[in-house]
Amino acid sequence: MPDAIDEVYSVLARSLRGRLLRQHDAEYVQAHTIWNAAAQRRPALIAQCAGVADVAAAVKPASAAGVATAIRCGGHSLAGFSSCEGGLVIDLCALRGVGLDAANRVATVQGGCLLGTIDTATQRAGLVYPAGVVSHTGAAGLILGGGTGWLTRKFGLSCDNVEGFTLVTAEGEIVRANARENEDLFWALRGGGGNFGVVVEFQLKLHPLTHVLLGCAYYGEEDIADRLRFFREFMPDAPAELKWNLGLRLGPEHADCPEELRGRPVLSESLLWAGNEAEGRELFRRLYSRDSPQAVKIEVFLFLKLQTMADAEFPHGRRYYTKSGYFKSLSDASISRMIAALGSVPSHETQIELVYLGGAAAKISADDTAFGDRSSPFILNLLAAWDEPERDAENASWVRTLFADLRPEMTPGVYVNFMSGDEDDRVKEAYSVRWEKLLAVKRKYDPRNFFRLNQNIRAAKS
Ligand code: FAD
Repeated sequence: MPDAIDEVYSVLARSLRGRLLRQHDAEYVQAHTIWNAAAQRRPALIAQCAGVADVAAAVKPASAAGVATAIRCGGHSLAGFSSCEGGLVIDLCALRGVGLDAANRVATVQGGCLLGTIDTATQRAGLVYPAGVVSHTGAAGLILGGGTGWLTRKFGLSCDNVEGFTLVTAEGEIVRANARENEDLFWALRGGGGNFGVVVEFQLKLHPLTHVLLGCAYYGEEDIADRLRFFREFMPDAPAELKWNLGLRLGPEHADCPEELRGRPVLSESLLWAGNEAEGRELFRRLYSRDSPQAVKIEVFLFLKLQTMADAEFPHGRRYYTKSGYFKSLSDASISRMIAALGSVPSHETQIELVYLGGAAAKISADDTAFGDRSSPFILNLLAAWDEPERDAENASWVRTLFADLRPEMTPGVYVNFMSGDEDDRVKEAYSVRWEKLLAVKRKYDPRNFFRLNQNIRAAKS
């Protein structure tokens, strides 16, 4: 739609306070690059908004002209939804302010914040906002889809800890959504993704925490099945202070991984305890006293160190493909399939990630927020990562094959933030019984589906 985008350019060239970039501009290359190189696109125009008025100024002409428009916070959408081919990107990278009301344990954060921006600001007052595990992830995309991380079992999902949103709608109007204003929108924004508008400000609920106890270990191939069975049996009654994350992969070429395990199938395990240290140490002693953990390390970690620990493991510019889903329980057959799949994994960087939800996240009732299923506690994420474009098909195919093998044992549903761009048909599955209500809110706030570059909520085409 070259004429429409030119029209948008000429309006924004006159009205935008922030930077407006086109493909020939020197700053364009960096500005258009998103985290997943396999989902990279070339927008015609990038509007780096300098404030809320800029966001409204960008939305209005693009919406009126029907130009494909992507909203970018951290640019970490696995599907590449924060960019588009030939359209407009509304880039919030200049909107990274955080206001702190430590006495009331509330942070007011702008719509372009990264997780690290929020952590650094809130830790100054010894407070945390429960979010994801990599500090360079965008907060907006993560929160709007749900948001899981180290503290999910103790404090709930990220979206459970939002007290209010301010957003710019498809008409360019500024609207607030909280427990007293536009409650339908408040409900939908907690899990419904970027479907309803550009969120320019979040009011976040904070909790006191500065340190955690972290245990890391590896298990060789022969111990993986036993360990996963123990995980399966232990977690349903585990205290909410415990988070247990597992990754099946080839042992990394990393000093922490015992030399004899490098390049061989391993289980990489992290135990996190967010509670009394002595109780945590006693629990870890029990959990490590069985199977044969290797390279066990138990340390008290500053929360900020915890939040940046995995940053280098998920670098910008690599190629990624993912498929995810839930299990109600983890069968022996599924465990065997996952272990067998490591025999043919095409990349050293690929992981089969398993976590157990439950805890505070499972205490919120299914219809309190738009977030997908809280009742199937095992979350599986098959995350392929590789560098060479010519190996895209091979890596995606490994994920698809394993997913298809596991699917019969899985329960329907998927976490929208762990979906790839080719899974449009699973969005309804993700929201399940919340789908009709989400459609109604979408019709009310974005009837023309201007905000469609996301896990899109739209009626099926007849
Ligand atoms: P972007 O790519 O900027 O945007 C993604 C989507 O959100 C787009 O559809 C966009 O339109 C919408 N959006 C972005 N900003 C706004 C806004 N201000 N208003 C309205 N819509 C907006 N998820 C977890 O739950 N827990 C984790 O621990 C976790 N770790 C991750 C680690 C890495 C390295 C990566 C790449 C992803 C991780 N994820 C995690 C998934 C993550 O939640 C999603 O990728 C999420 O979309 C990232 O948010 P973003 O702001 O960077 O996304």
